[in-house]
Amino acid sequence: MHERGVVSEAAAAFLGEIGDRPVQQVVLVTGPTMVVDVAADTWAHVTEGTPVEGAEVVWEAVLDRLECFACGTQYAGTKLTQCPSCGASGLVVEPAPDFAVRAWSAHVPG
Ligand SMILES: [Zn+2]
Repeated sequence: MHERGVVSEAAAAFLGEIGDRPVQQVVLVTGPTMVVDVAADTWAHVTEGTPVEGAEVVWEAVLDRLECFACGTQYAGTKLTQCPSCGASGLVVEPAPDFAVRAWSAHVPG
């Protein structure tokens, strides 16, 4: 279960970045290899007692970016996804991150 390591690491970096500012909402992205339920459990666990606890979490699934060997079309998918234009195989040119904090907003009092 690589979710736990990846999420713990990203959460630690994020907590370092925000300091003690309370967080209203955070946008988390997960790649095709992540199990979102496990990532969510881990996120809840590692942010307990921090300024992120209680923040609204928005999950976004992201896919790899591929380029077709045959026709050069770029498309989103996993490494086994076939080209939507011609059905050939493609090469991953830009892998999705396993897990990342894409955005966050601070809690505004009042
Ligand atoms: Zn193609």
